[in-house]
Amino acid sequence: MTDQCRIISLYSAAAFDTRVYLMRILVTGGAGFIGSHLCERLLNEGNEVICLDNFFTGRKANIAHLLNNSRFELVRHDVTEPALFEVDQIYNFACPASPVHYQYNPVKTVKTSVMGAVNMLGLAKRVRARILQASTSEVYGDPLEHPQTEAYWGNVNPIGLRACYDEGKRVAETLMMDYHRQNGVDTRIVRIFNTYGERMLENDGRVVSNFVVQALKGEDLTIYGDGTQTRSFCYVSDLVDGIIRLMNADGDDIHLPVNLGNPGEFTMNELADEVGKATGKDIRVKYMPLPQDDPKQRRPDITRAKTLLNWEPKIALAEGLKRTVAYFEGVVGSTQKASS
Ligand code: NAD
Ligand code: UDP
Repeated sequence: MTDQCRIISLYSAAAFDTRVYLMRILVTGGAGFIGSHLCERLLNEGNEVICLDNFFTGRKANIAHLLNNSRFELVRHDVTEPALFEVDQIYNFACPASPVHYQYNPVKTVKTSVMGAVNMLGLAKRVRARILQASTSEVYGDPLEHPQTEAYWGNVNPIGLRACYDEGKRVAETLMMDYHRQNGVDTRIVRIFNTYGERMLENDGRVVSNFVVQALKGEDLTIYGDGTQTRSFCYVSDLVDGIIRLMNADGDDIHLPVNLGNPGEFTMNELADEVGKATGKDIRVKYMPLPQDDPKQRRPDITRAKTLLNWEPKIALAEGLKRTVAYFEGVVGSTQKASS
């Protein structure tokens, strides 16, 4: 437990709840894919969790199983507006992450990253909370250095279709560092590489959910470009473990960004084969145009996470895909029943 961790003894007159909680933690974007796993894990560790979300891409269904927990609160709010909560830690995860969703309203995406970071940093400064920003491997753009270390400054097109997300996240990182240097805010930055698992949206356009859902429905898998571009896929429980370790780690350069991801690297053609194996289906693929500025390769160098956090992913792609397929079998099954 860190020195920053205050022990909160809640004595609610209404509930006569005298249990001792570890920390009160705000998770923005807590009803989303990663955010909901984070809320669940933090609650399981005994913390009090406030989940803030505007439900743009998040769903109440993702956190429905947490609503009866007296240590869990759900607040509908947009991070582009200021908010005040007495909390010990803030995980700032609010932001659409799939290219389809972040390009739907690009101006709002920039506002969410930039104004969201300003508002949450202002809150952290005011209540002296530690804050962790969800950044992304997209800050490396279409990387010319491979694998990507945190020292690489990236190759981002500042005026392309992905810029609303990439540049928004880069400014959020800038704000984290400046609030730290200028105001002494206790900040953390995690650069998340492609993460997958249960509770991804069925139709969010990301490659793992697309391929799994297409395979389960017996449709052709849509490969963009020639399928030789690469990504590295991290299973969500591994990622959440690393994120919580980073939030609670201390050290001189702990405020600098840390890559979290699985270094296993796959082409999209290879991923399609892996999805075939995980679903047990004979898959067919169809090739479609490559979206603008689609990065050709991506793989994290996780030396820093290993050294600072003693962290590395445990779940290989084949195992993570099996779990993800089991989840989507339920989703696709219930959608098909409802429409028949
Ligand atoms: P997601 O879309 O499932 O979750 C984002 C959540 O933020 C949703 O619940 C959404 O409703 C909420 N949100 C969006 N705009 C908001 C706003 N203005 N105010 C309040 N809430 C808002 O995506 P995810 O995959 O869970 O990603 C979570 C975070 O992790 C994002 O910040 C994303 O950039 C980052 N990240 C994710 C990945 C990945 O592979 N999943 C990779 C890199 C970075
Ligand atoms: N992709 C694909 N078929 C799909 C969806 C995505 O071939 O149905 C490709 C996409 O062009 C990219 C990779 O898969 O090269 C990862 O895409 P995703 O949107 O999941 O994440 P990101 O591009 O943000 O890493």
